[in-house]
Amino acid sequence: MGQSVLTGTGVFRREGGVLQCEGVSLEAIAAVAGTPCYVYSAGTIRDRYAQLAGALTDVPHRIHYTLKANANAAILRLLRELGAGVDVVSGGELHRALRAGFRGQDIIFGGVGKTAQELREGLEADVLFFNVESEAELILLDRIAAELGRTARVSLRVNPEITVEAAHEYIKTGQKGAKFGIPYDEVLPAARVARDLPNTELVGLDMHLGSQLFSLEPYLAGTERLVLLCLALRREGVDTLRYLDIGGGLAVRYEDESLPDLTQFSELLVPGVAQTGLQLVMEPGRFMVGNSGMLVTRVLYRKRSGGKEHLVCDAGMTELLRPSHYNAYHRIEAVRARSEVMVADVVGPVCESGDFLALDRQLEAVHPGDLLAVFDAGAYGYVMSSNYNARPRAAEVLVDGDRWAVVTARERYEDLVRHELPDPEWHGKER
Ligand SMILES: *Cc1c(COP(=O)(O)O)cnc(C)c1O
Repeated sequence: MGQSVLTGTGVFRREGGVLQCEGVSLEAIAAVAGTPCYVYSAGTIRDRYAQLAGALTDVPHRIHYTLKANANAAILRLLRELGAGVDVVSGGELHRALRAGFRGQDIIFGGVGKTAQELREGLEADVLFFNVESEAELILLDRIAAELGRTARVSLRVNPEITVEAAHEYIKTGQKGAKFGIPYDEVLPAARVARDLPNTELVGLDMHLGSQLFSLEPYLAGTERLVLLCLALRREGVDTLRYLDIGGGLAVRYEDESLPDLTQFSELLVPGVAQTGLQLVMEPGRFMVGNSGMLVTRVLYRKRSGGKEHLVCDAGMTELLRPSHYNAYHRIEAVRARSEVMVADVVGPVCESGDFLALDRQLEAVHPGDLLAVFDAGAYGYVMSSNYNARPRAAEVLVDGDRWAVVTARERYEDLVRHELPDPEWHGKER
């Protein structure tokens, strides 16, 4: 894997000192689209897809992009055209996927707390399969399938009970005691339930270990555990299994982390999977889009407080929650190069002390009015943004070569109050 592609710096270069995304200047985009805005590189997403697909050529596989990392419709369309399927975790994401042109057969429906309504919607859309997280969900899904006269294809989300090293507690999902998946010891009994349900077909086994995983070890250990379950089920006469879904979690580079080698990844994994004859399914989110996007924000004020320099910007935790929620690092550079350097807290305008993009960061000495680029914000960026402090959501821009377009308009004040009912209908006894 080439370094430039991984860090995104290959597409985010400088021309005349000004940062470009592919062939377009970020200053030019900000002048038209305003700030804060997210800017995504289509070329980077194509590269990532090609890298993963290339690494998996030796095994029958399906790549289902995890929509929750970035649900932008233009990006979904791009990935669909490349041949990706999607992995959704809610009725809302299913709606987005269908709207972007994915067919039911391209969609995996996961999530730890699907409602009866969401299960119904998944069945009506005829999704490829549901990743089911408990026996109770299996039984509910089977009952709804009976009502609709359909068969529910299910894969069991196994908690492989593997401890991973991840950047933050909140992004580990496959450990003993986690809320996700079926505890390893209970998978075979649950599989027998699935086998015996009249409107259910057990088509796969699934795991998702966590996010931003640097080591290949847990994938290997988890896959081995899934393979063992598959063999045990076959011995019991289950002959309907088709998919071995190893989830998402592939890491991207934010700072100077060393990343897993994809060739090695497939060399380690493929033999075990091949032995089962099952199709390998992956659900990458961050890997596909993380390095493809940046958040462009304008510096509003520069002030000193407590012997510290603060850069107050027009973006903060409402636009990019990762620094304050996960203590995540995002590289920040001035869009127009500056020669001096400074150390500052880069903060947002929100009335919270936890509202920051970076703390004690050395960066170029910028001034009010200057633009900053917050790198590698393509995954878990815009999707986690909020309207807190009545802040309209930012615009999203897609760049493709020398062309660019606003693909999501900035929200307006009217959007903030659209669902409020000034004259509500009261229920209950009149006082
Ligand atoms: C979030 C999630 C993914 C994607 O994780 P990444 O780290 O973004 O690749 C895949 N599968 C499931 C079930 C998830 O919840």
